Amino acid sequence: MTDSLAKNAARYPVTFARGEGVWLYDTDGKKYMDFLGGIAVCALGHAHPALTAALIDQSTKLLHVSNLFYTPEIVAAADALVDRLGGSGRVYFCNSGTEANEAAIKAARKFAWRNGDTERNEIVALEGSFHGRTYGSLAATIQPAKWEGFGPMPGGFVPVPLNDTGALQKAITAKTAGVIIEPIQGEGGIRPLTKEFAQMARRLCDVHGALLICDEIQTGIGRTGSWWGHDHLGFTPDIVTMAKALGGGFPVGATWLSAKCGDALQPSDHATTQGGGPLACAAVLATLEAIESEGLIANAAKLGDWIAGEFADLGAEVRGKGLLIGLDLGRDDAAKVVEAALGKGLIVNNVTASTVRLAPPLNITAQEAEQGIALLREAIKEVA
Ligand SMILES: *Cc1c(COP(=O)(O)O)cnc(C)c1O
Repeated sequence: MTDSLAKNAARYPVTFARGEGVWLYDTDGKKYMDFLGGIAVCALGHAHPALTAALIDQSTKLLHVSNLFYTPEIVAAADALVDRLGGSGRVYFCNSGTEANEAAIKAARKFAWRNGDTERNEIVALEGSFHGRTYGSLAATIQPAKWEGFGPMPGGFVPVPLNDTGALQKAITAKTAGVIIEPIQGEGGIRPLTKEFAQMARRLCDVHGALLICDEIQTGIGRTGSWWGHDHLGFTPDIVTMAKALGGGFPVGATWLSAKCGDALQPSDHATTQGGGPLACAAVLATLEAIESEGLIANAAKLGDWIAGEFADLGAEVRGKGLLIGLDLGRDDAAKVVEAALGKGLIVNNVTASTVRLAPPLNITAQEAEQGIALLREAIKEVA
């Protein structure tokens, strides 16, 4: 392929040229079903007409002005997200998920500092979490294998085992600035938080004066059959981070700060040159509008339940919600299943050694999903 690329994720030897809806076409014209949605990014599938039109239209007007000024697009995108997060608060736009979490962590510490609480700087994070690859987000990613060779790591991060309410009670103290959770751990293997644990996190944050940060980068924007993953858990976060599907495939991240902590970041406390550019914000607006006008959240809820049920007979554990599905085969051959599926023209990924992740576009049809399920079942059978 090429030696000019630094290693990123491990790549399969397939080169994609174009896409349409749930379908991708490689440079030889071979067709694949994207049952992974570009890792939960392409909520509208590929080359969605409304998103494409919005990007073309915006690119003829204005690409960039910097955050020294306003654009109609950044104002409208911030309003649109605030509308979907209870109607108040402020939005910081950036370019990726890891940046959104950096901003959240910095905001939580600065909030405490502004309150004169200068000793309050700890961030409680969960084992098996994934919050990104830059240092702050990586420190909050409690997967020590991902820290190897990159030390020293930033300090002040306190690990808690997933869903361990006793450990959570011990970890959250008067030193805690923030607690960061994913409603369903994505990269950690599609592992849901229990309601009990999530609600206890909310209560303990209130008791001890800490901010609850909800990383909705994978679970947000309708993926789970509701706007936000935390909707299913019955709690309200203080900070929400978004990226992946937010721009429907155009890179953009965002950090929502509730009214309580919206003023923690003052001008130049934290900033970005290109974040929230008009093209990115036009993509956000087009994506949110299409999700709403096409009823895609209801589609994700309905098809998600049905797809999960279609694997019931395999003896696999099916985890997740809506169109974020982890199929735990109970054997460490998920990588082989993924490769067999790819050979059949189906894209899924092995999020852990035993778990295959499905995260198709939210506008996938029942008929397309049926094809995807059939191909995946064939691949599983072949490997077993
Ligand atoms: C993907 C992901 C991130 C990191 O996002 P990037 O855009 O890759 O930096 C952070 N948190 C969660 C939950 C994610 O799924």
